[in-house]
Amino acid sequence: MKLSLFNISNFRVDGGAMFGVVPKALWGRQVASDENNTIVLSLNTLVIETGGRVILVDAGWGDKQSDKFFRHVYLHGGSGLTGGLAECGYTPEDITDVLITHLHADHCGGCFVNGAGGGQEPLFPNATYHISREQWEWANDSNLREEDAFLPENIKPFGDSGRLNLIEENGELFPGVMLRICYGHTPGLIVPVIRYHDRTLVFAGDLIPTVAHIPLLWNMAYDLLPLATIAEKQEILEEALHSGHLLIFQHDPETECCAVTETPKGIREGTKGRLADFL
Ligand SMILES: [Zn+2]
Repeated sequence: MKLSLFNISNFRVDGGAMFGVVPKALWGRQVASDENNTIVLSLNTLVIETGGRVILVDAGWGDKQSDKFFRHVYLHGGSGLTGGLAECGYTPEDITDVLITHLHADHCGGCFVNGAGGGQEPLFPNATYHISREQWEWANDSNLREEDAFLPENIKPFGDSGRLNLIEENGELFPGVMLRICYGHTPGLIVPVIRYHDRTLVFAGDLIPTVAHIPLLWNMAYDLLPLATIAEKQEILEEALHSGHLLIFQHDPETECCAVTETPKGIREGTKGRLADFL
């Protein structure tokens, strides 16, 4: 197995929304915010080469929305999707599978892009898309609360592609790649758990988006079921503590990966650094 991680792009989001009920007086000590109270998030994406397949985990925002839309998210920095793949030694044609953790716009939009002729084209012409059935059905039904995140122009092309594999349950999808389906953030969020030689790595995605989200009550206001998020995090953090699993953060612009440790206040980050340093 070969693992690569790169940042597609940074973007900005409201800091209060990222930390839910936690007062700014507390989260402000951990994360810098600007005059509009926004904070910087990254969009780290993982490439897993295993069993003859090249699997991309999530694909970023893409380019299908208006300039006005993208002004609000303030994309900056990062390698871009094709640029980051190239840095890791891959072309879009090499990608055999895209594992979509969930269908919020910052995770799935990059799979289909504006083509030269004005229509949409798949960026990964040889890829099969893997999404949980629960998330697929939930997003296609949409709801007022997630309407800004479930964008039809992102979601419809998966259905039209004829290359959609709907995941029904937890299990091993590829050699060494186990999937765990969660419900707190949005129903059917996939958390990939990767066995790499003697290490286990948890791609925490929107369940634990940054290192600052390790404390059980530090959760995003976006989560639909906060109590489920707390229970799911607790299970993953306790397993990480007892079995030495590493966490990979999708949205942390500073910390790609960390171990966890027990403290009097609960489980907190241990050694942290770049993913490559742990492999
Ligand atoms: Zn999300």
